[in-house]
Amino acid sequence: MTEDTRTNLTGRTNLIGLSRTELEAEMAAIGEKPFRAKQLWHWLYNRGETDFARMTSISKIMQGKLAERYVVYRPVVERDLVSADTTRKWLLKFADGNEAETVYIPDEDEERGAVCISTQVGCTLTCRFCHTGTQLLVRNLSAAEIVGQFLVARDAYGEWPTPDDSVRRLSNVVVMGMGEPLYNFDNVATALKIVMDGDGIGVSKRRITLSTSGVVPMMARCGEELGVNLAISLHAVTDEVRDRIMPINKKYPLAELMAACRAYPGASNARRITFEYVMLKGVNDSAADARQLLRLIKGLPAKFNLIPFNPWPGAPYDCSDAKTIRAFSDILQDAGYSAPIRKSRGQDIMAACGQLRSDSQRVRCSRQQDRLAAGIADDHGPQPAAP
Ligand code: SAH
Ligand code: SF4
Repeated sequence: MTEDTRTNLTGRTNLIGLSRTELEAEMAAIGEKPFRAKQLWHWLYNRGETDFARMTSISKIMQGKLAERYVVYRPVVERDLVSADTTRKWLLKFADGNEAETVYIPDEDEERGAVCISTQVGCTLTCRFCHTGTQLLVRNLSAAEIVGQFLVARDAYGEWPTPDDSVRRLSNVVVMGMGEPLYNFDNVATALKIVMDGDGIGVSKRRITLSTSGVVPMMARCGEELGVNLAISLHAVTDEVRDRIMPINKKYPLAELMAACRAYPGASNARRITFEYVMLKGVNDSAADARQLLRLIKGLPAKFNLIPFNPWPGAPYDCSDAKTIRAFSDILQDAGYSAPIRKSRGQDIMAACGQLRSDSQRVRCSRQQDRLAAGIADDHGPQPAAP
């Protein structure tokens, strides 16, 4: 557990982000029975309460005892932007001053929508088309900071107490914000288990999708422990191109990535793996690429998500033409796969895929130090970026 999960500036322990077992242990440590943890869990995650004094099923004396030792702490909203298409983006500041972004993407009918959550401040990887990739990793987010993003979104839409699944607007979670979730697996897992817990936030694992750039050794654990939907940022169909645009491919090349997808626990025709594919003009968008893509995923329960490249200042790519993207999609659809072209949402507020970035920085010398600072063992870490 990171220091920030345990304490904030007041020196008290933040109850947000503790697993059920950790919360029970906290209560045991102050001489309380397990039912107290259950009671608190309900207030924290079903009611969204942050003030012990308003937890009315808890005696005044107990409220005081809790307030002396604990806080219910959320990241602070520094900026709250709403796009012309109603996509909303929050810049959140954490207790140590670092910042990350969270996005809410409503469906067309605006009755449902997905909260897009960040897992790191910056990213160790340097995918060439991604704005986040230009921000070196500052640090991993703690479980409290990851689940805190969802709590802030619920606060903003007033979805407390937890509404019935059929009526909530914040119906889905996509772990597709800043950072590589599988390089911060423990904190992501603790946070997602809180999000999934039926006595609290209650978003089913079927409504959660985690996107990875392809951290092969962590994929099985993700499936076994969390059972969430998996999305792979594929973006190229040959090692030659993928090495160039996604340096992680040098560490875990396509053959290994595909083998890990085939072995992903819980993948089936009812729960397909999503292959994300950013459309980069003249780089990965030919008809031959589309046909090679079909060969690559042969036999896998797969669907595609074609993402028109979202530009950002200084980006070295252009988006493929609409006609080229449609032709690419048609080849996949003619072979029987779902291959929608993702509509870009929130571009005017830089909230679209790959546009997130914060100004948090850390003074440091090398990516090797980055990885060490993030506690990423070398055998799990990405290759240093090609210059
Ligand atoms: N780090 C994880 C989670 C980020 S998900 C991952 O890479 O999977 C965000 C998705 O947007 C990924 O598929 C990412 O590759 C894609 N993306 C990044 N930059 C983009 C851009 N400029 N335009 C469109 N999609 C982009
Ligand atoms: Fe990191 Fe994902 Fe962006 Fe690659 S696409 S740099 S893994 S956030």
